[in-house]
Amino acid sequence: MDHLKNSECIFCKIVQGSIPCYHIYEDDTCLAFLDVAPLTTGHTLLIPKSHYVNLLDTPSFLIAHLNTIAKRIARHYLEALGATGFKIHTNVGKNAGQVVNHYHIHIIPYYPKNSQLNEKPQLSNDAFQDLASKIKLN
Ligand SMILES: [Zn+2]
Repeated sequence: MDHLKNSECIFCKIVQGSIPCYHIYEDDTCLAFLDVAPLTTGHTLLIPKSHYVNLLDTPSFLIAHLNTIAKRIARHYLEALGATGFKIHTNVGKNAGQVVNHYHIHIIPYYPKNSQLNEKPQLSNDAFQDLASKIKLN
């Protein structure tokens, strides 16, 4: 039962700093960063720092904390990005589209109907970095 880290897990490596991320928010128990394959501009992932496979094996207090932070990030993106709506969800299991087996919440901002920000952005490393520093939550 090692929930502290899993040496094979890409998100645990991000928590440890051995893989870089476009950093949005961090506290003692969780970390948020930009999804590198975003569905819309600002698509963010929020993870617990401890390794849990998915929602079903994550302690409820952590789920509650992560959802509280997801709400804070979404509220912040109303201003920081001009978002007007969100999809906030988690995938449980491969058949439901879970790709990384470390519990994470997707925060996907949406914009007014004809905005190109609703489309999959193709961002360079610099553009990701600029976006992250612009919308970082302190
Ligand atoms: Zn992990």
